[in-house]
This record gives sequence, C-alpha cells and structure tokens, in this order.
Amino acid sequence: MKIAVVGTGYVGLVTGTCFAETGNTVTCVDIDSTKVNKLTNGEITIYEPGLEKLFLRNLKEDRLHFTTDLAAGIKDASIIFLALPTPPGEDGSADLKYILGVASQLGTLLKTDDYKVIIDKSTVPVGTAEKVNAAILESAKKAGVNLTGAFDVVSNPEFLREGVAVDDFMKPDRVVIGTSSEKAKKLMGDLYAPFVRQGNPVIFMDERSAELTKYAANSFLATKISFMNEVARLCELLGADVDMVRRGVGSDDRIGKRFLFPGIGYGGSCFPKDVQALVKSSNEVKYDFKILNAVMEVNETQKLHLFPKIKNYFKGDLKGKHFALWGLAFKPNTDDIREAPALYMIDALTAEGATVTAFDPEAMNNVKKTIGDKITYAENQYAALQGADALIIATEWNEFRTPDFLKIVSTLKNKTIFDGRNLFEVSAIRELGFHYESIGRAPSI
Ligand code: NAD
Repeated sequence: MKIAVVGTGYVGLVTGTCFAETGNTVTCVDIDSTKVNKLTNGEITIYEPGLEKLFLRNLKEDRLHFTTDLAAGIKDASIIFLALPTPPGEDGSADLKYILGVASQLGTLLKTDDYKVIIDKSTVPVGTAEKVNAAILESAKKAGVNLTGAFDVVSNPEFLREGVAVDDFMKPDRVVIGTSSEKAKKLMGDLYAPFVRQGNPVIFMDERSAELTKYAANSFLATKISFMNEVARLCELLGADVDMVRRGVGSDDRIGKRFLFPGIGYGGSCFPKDVQALVKSSNEVKYDFKILNAVMEVNETQKLHLFPKIKNYFKGDLKGKHFALWGLAFKPNTDDIREAPALYMIDALTAEGATVTAFDPEAMNNVKKTIGDKITYAENQYAALQGADALIIATEWNEFRTPDFLKIVSTLKNKTIFDGRNLFEVSAIRELGFHYESIGRAPSI
C-alpha cells in the first residue's frame, strides 16, 4: 500500500518506519525542514530502541521517504495518517489547530476520483473525526470542489509506549479502529493484518468510541500511578513498606503487577495532557470526573514529594549545596523530557540556591536545549557525583540499578541518596552505611 504520515515526531516516525517494514511504501511529511533533511540523509531524530535499524533498512530499500511538501507526500497515497501534535491549550483542552490546519490543506489537495482514507492517529477528543471531515469538505467547497464520498476519516488511536515503541507497534496488544465506513474498515483491516498475526484483536467501533478509548486507557493508567503514590504516602505515615504492599496487591490477577510502582509522579507528553483533556471534555458536557481531578492533584504534589525530605535532611537550608542528579528523561529508554519530574526537581533545588550536575544516558541534549546552563552536565553517572552533597535519582534507567557503590562512596561528599524511583533495597543500602530516602519506605538510617 502507499501511505503518507503527516507529522514525523515520536509517533509519526515509528508509524512510518513500521509500516514500511511490512512492505508498504511510506512518505513522511513534516513542516520541520531540518528534521526532514536529517531523516532523508539517514540521521535519526529521536532515540527509540530498535528504531534506527528498521529506519535505515527501509530507507535503503527505498520504502521510506521524507518531505516537507504535503501535496507531493499525499499524492500517491491511499492512506494518510495524521500524527500531529495535540498539545494542551490554555484551558487544558487538546489544541486541534495542527490537525484542523492540515485537514483544511487536504481539502484543497484531495480529488473527487481518488478515494483516500484520512486517519487520526494523534490523541484527539471525541468528535474530532467529525471536525476533520467537516474541515476537509469546507475547504474543498471553498475551492468549488465537492469531495463527498471521496474520502473517509477514521480514528485509529496509537497506544505505543516511548522506550518500547517499535515492539508495541509491531506487536500491539490491540488495534482500535473507529469508522462507520465499510470501505475504510476493509482497508484498515488489510493494513494491520501483518501486525496481529499472533491473534491479538483489531477492534472495530464507531469513531467517537475509538477517540474516547485512548483517553480512557491513558487516564486509567495515570489513575493506577496516582493511586499507588497515595498508598506510598500512607505507608510512610503508617510505617508500612510500599514494596511489600505492591507485591501483595499486584499478585491479584484482577489488579495485575504492572503500573503499581510508586515514584515521583508521571510525566511525558501523554499522561499529563490526556488526563487534563479528558477532564476538560467531561466539563464541557457538564460531567464532573471526580477521580481524574484527584489523579491530577496527586501527581502535581508527587513530583516534589522528595523535595521536603531533601530540605529537612539539610536542616531547611539548601543554599550552596550541590546535588548529583541521575536521570532527566521522564522515563527510561527515551530522550523525551516533556513534563519530566526531574525538571521540576531542578527548579525546586535551584530556586533554593542549590546547584545541580546531571547525567542521563539519552536526554541531556534535549535538556540543554531547554534549560541550558541552569545546571551542569556530566559525562557519565559517576562523574556527576564529584563534590556533591547528595545523589538524587529521578529516572529508573537500568544502568542506575546496580551501580558501583564503592565508587559512589569515594566520590560523593556525603553517603546520602534520595531515590525517587525506589531502585535499591533499603536493607542492602543500610549495610553500606548510606542515608537513603525513597518513596513509601522508611529511611535507611
Ligand atoms: P511530536 O511533537 O513528537 O511530533 C509531531 C510532529 O508534527 C513534529 O515533528 C512537528 O514538526 C510536526 N508538525 C507540526 N505541524 C505540522 C504540519 N502542519 N505538517 C506536518 N508536520 C507538522 O508528537 P508525538 O509525540 O509524535 O505525538 C503526536 C500525537 O500522538 C499526539 O496527539 C500525542 O498525544 C499522540 N501520541 C503520542 C504518543 C507518544 O508516546 N509520544 C503515544 C501515543 C499517542
């Protein structure tokens, strides 16, 4: 099949590459000419495990192309994915200007005798497929063209997780397709058939239900995180150990083991904005989604849950203190720093007169672009410890899990660790003589 993917960010590049991998010819379109030039020249623009190999292979096989020219990109495609940003607007609702802007452009480019399916892959509020449909028809009408019947708009939300995006895309747990068109349904079923060979379902539904499915899924996962973060806070007050509680709770099949790890809050480009957007959509229909309001409130405070512990330890005065920070990305295996809890920690520390040297395996360049020399950056995790009064851990990268503790002891000024991701066993670290504070567990000493 011939496919166009409009928007070549985390979702668009993975989508385009993975569809090329199954033999389709894909053209990715982006307005960012620097990005398009890099990709055309074989330089990958995001860090995503396993993606580069697939990207280079399909580029070489001439199945993957990049352009800034929307008209050229969609010309031969029968399927057009929109993988455009839907950032929160001022009031928290998803801003549809990118989606509807491209939809209007498509209205001037589609032809009456060249049927195409336009697919919302972005996370968009209920009713967006109808808005995209209307925007295309409207701009075509202005140009004197009646496109009725020449296209269908489908909702096909994306569930990939950054860090394992290629695996998630190639072997999805499920594919959700919202369409009321039999023609589009057949095309989408054929397109996804290679990805669900193992028998995972392609679930067809109406557009509105598909749109809501994505928000409900992300909001439920965010709820699980905030719930466990509250359990962790209670553990600290009641003298229980959240690790034990988590194991005891998660071994119930009805609950499941995943997404029960407490920490310093969820971040990233999806959970914060999607929960907020669903609350906004609920408010618009006069529904007060009480649980989600609490989920957001808990997450806001959880991002800085470690901070008072740090401040108390240093007797309320952080002026002149220096901290090593391990982890900047909002989660491991990605260079994405959008809404990363580490950035909130940096703001809080520096506002009190402390300084920070950070290390992250993949996200340092993105942080440098955002906050520049507000902090210093280390070449590796141990170099970050030099002269630091304490180590703070903000992201659970695997390489932080079993560090060389002797090196930590010999480099840090004090044997002090504040761990926002519960990487170490409290008892083991106590034996090493560290003052260690984490989430939902008693301090080591
Ligand atoms: P992104 O910011 O990484 O990428 C968006 C891309 O669109 C950018 O490269 C940008 O230059 C491009 N763009 C903007 N306007 C354009 C235009 N008019 N024409 C062509 N290109 C244009 O965003 P993302 O993380 O890939 O997310 C895209 C959508 O997918 C969002 O709705 C997001 O909520 C959703 N989503 C994201 C993830 C994730 O893990 N990142 C997962 C599932 C769903």
